[in-house]
Amino acid sequence: MVAPGTYAGRRAFDPPLWLTRKGLPPSLNGIDDPAFVHETHVNRRDRGVEIFNETVRMLGRQFNMVLERPITFHFVASQDYSTLQDSVLGMHRMREGHHEIYILQGQDGDDYWAVSAHEFGHGFVAEYGKISSQLDNEGFATWMEFKMHMLRGARTIARSFIDPEEFFRPEVYEKGLRKMIDLETRGGELGVFQYVTTGVEP
Ligand SMILES: [Zn+2]
Repeated sequence: MVAPGTYAGRRAFDPPLWLTRKGLPPSLNGIDDPAFVHETHVNRRDRGVEIFNETVRMLGRQFNMVLERPITFHFVASQDYSTLQDSVLGMHRMREGHHEIYILQGQDGDDYWAVSAHEFGHGFVAEYGKISSQLDNEGFATWMEFKMHMLRGARTIARSFIDPEEFFRPEVYEKGLRKMIDLETRGGELGVFQYVTTGVEP
């Protein structure tokens, strides 16, 4: 028996009907959407919380991504990352059935939006994912960053994600992202979600 409102196990993820199997958007010309608002450094906790919540709302609306389990959000200074390596901008982990999400304060604001999407992406995989390799996990989370930049209209930044000459990350992020971009080229955004939630490539 499970009490009402309690997480009762992994439910099916329904990709929204408007996602198609078309490949990458042809409009990725690197010119920012006129509505794009550059975010300055995120130093205040209230702004940090606001951006994270807005990220969850935007990705939820765009991709039907909803986390069933509660999220505990932490806006942290670098010294709070005692158990982590240097240069980590965010972290997700499951703890006692909750998502714990940590995001570093004071970082570049456009990065902060991306890190929010990245960690939310890890949360999504934790609940619905049928993928297990680090390559797939980091690839999907990094692809979420790419999508978040697109949703904000930050096409200059988004473009750097699909240009191997511009994108510099540790190998697992880089290769993982290339794999997701390849899946998207073949099967659209729907293809990426199909792979992540079923393990079957489009
Ligand atoms: Zn990650």
